[in-house]
Amino acid sequence: MLGLTIKEVSLALREGRISPTELCRRCLNHIKKTQYLNAYITVTEELALKQAQEAESRLLKGAPKGPLDGIPFAVKDNFCTENIKTTCASRMLKEYTPPYSATVVQKLLDQGAVLMGKTNMDEFAMGSGSTDGAFGPVRNPWSYAAPYREQTEEEPDSDWVITGGSSGGSAAAVASLTSYLALGSDTGGSTRNPAALCGVVALKPTYGLVSRYGLIPLVNSMDVPGILTRSANDAAIVLGILQGLDIRDSTTICSPSALTELPEDFDIKNICVGIPKEYHAPGLSQEMLAQWSRIADMFETAGARVEQVSLPHTQHSIVCYHVLCHAEVASNMARFDGLEYGHRSKVDSSTEAMYATTRHEGFNDVVRGRILSGNYFLLKQNYEHYFVKAQQVRRMIADDFRRVFSSGVDMLLTPTTLSDAARYSEFTQEDNRTRSAQEDIFTQPVNMAGLPAVSVPTALSSRGLPIGLQLIGPTLQDRKLLAVARWIEQRVGFPCIGHYENSSKKGSDTGMTKREQSSAV
Ligand code: GLN
Repeated sequence: MLGLTIKEVSLALREGRISPTELCRRCLNHIKKTQYLNAYITVTEELALKQAQEAESRLLKGAPKGPLDGIPFAVKDNFCTENIKTTCASRMLKEYTPPYSATVVQKLLDQGAVLMGKTNMDEFAMGSGSTDGAFGPVRNPWSYAAPYREQTEEEPDSDWVITGGSSGGSAAAVASLTSYLALGSDTGGSTRNPAALCGVVALKPTYGLVSRYGLIPLVNSMDVPGILTRSANDAAIVLGILQGLDIRDSTTICSPSALTELPEDFDIKNICVGIPKEYHAPGLSQEMLAQWSRIADMFETAGARVEQVSLPHTQHSIVCYHVLCHAEVASNMARFDGLEYGHRSKVDSSTEAMYATTRHEGFNDVVRGRILSGNYFLLKQNYEHYFVKAQQVRRMIADDFRRVFSSGVDMLLTPTTLSDAARYSEFTQEDNRTRSAQEDIFTQPVNMAGLPAVSVPTALSSRGLPIGLQLIGPTLQDRKLLAVARWIEQRVGFPCIGHYENSSKKGSDTGMTKREQSSAV
């Protein structure tokens, strides 16, 4: 039951094959069993059971609220949730409880979805590993599945791989079967990157299609709520619920909610798929390249047109993203001064000293580093040279996409990440920080152009870890991308992790060590 898609489990609920409370209990038990993943910062057990009971009485009366009635979901801990802690995985907001819920969270609750908890992440969504939060790193559930364990002699305790990030907890929650969908945020790839490394589907919607109200901002001009599910069709169902104008977010656009599913068969013959030549980037693994060619060939064999295209400004995107991101971070983080929100230092010799120590104690060095460099870029004497220049380069990157899409190309096919998931011990070595920034090469340009993109798992690597590919489309072509992702899904048959349960080489159900097992109970 836990491994089903939203579509399947909602049918099971309606047909009475399982009740919402039983489903909720099973998910809660599974969260306890998989605690060692560190996917959740807060588990909302009591609330979930209450919501499930309410869903149950609605279903018994034959009056469900919507397609998600009774279905467990998880929310990244940077979306405000009324009366539930929202920490951004930071000491700064460790005790912060918002008085309201983000629009996207409210919309899911209004459909009867059952909130299981708030998921772990990189502090303030800065990172691509989910290794940098104040609550510890998130472990990739595939680290404990048979295909990976069979390749390694090391104990699961020392040899586990990262989830990617920054929405690693959300990706781990969906992949490890404790929630049927999860919300992530995507500013430079934070939903697609962990989805690819954890073997689930991610949608980064067109900027403005889904409200950001209640999402604690990282880079306002690039942030979008992201959707993580186990199938492209599920992502389309959730998008239908979330999209639309919100008077509380002036960047949203009017689009009627579309509660329709994707077509069962998509006619691939009529589409033209572009392969950006600049995306053959340094560091791209051989296996990733092979997957990319394999799916491109699959398109061609099925009658689609596959063409090489050029996005010449790609090489500048990482640097450009960094300037813009750090500048917006410097301004966004100014609100955390110890007076209005969250942590307040005990040092009170002067207001200045209180501000400084509050921020020193509250933020980790990744956040402090970005605030520092952001303020540097925004200094009067640097503003033109860095910030204005980066805005111009951003426009050129967006124009690259526009040119390609107006030349008859319907969508682009690219890798989502450079390789499969890195081991935690390797990822956290100093020089790999640079690599982790480079890891966003395929995802960041999409945010800078405000375009929609989908990441879909296509295979397991020779290490037994998921590999994902990305489809990028023109503005508002979100559903078309999902339809093509579904077409891919139907042909690659990517396995659900549940498939490998009880088959770990290490002899336990999960591949956990004894210590992990005892802490998981
Ligand atoms: N890795 C990128 C960063 O650290 C993207 C983060 C995100 O999308 N939230 O800025």
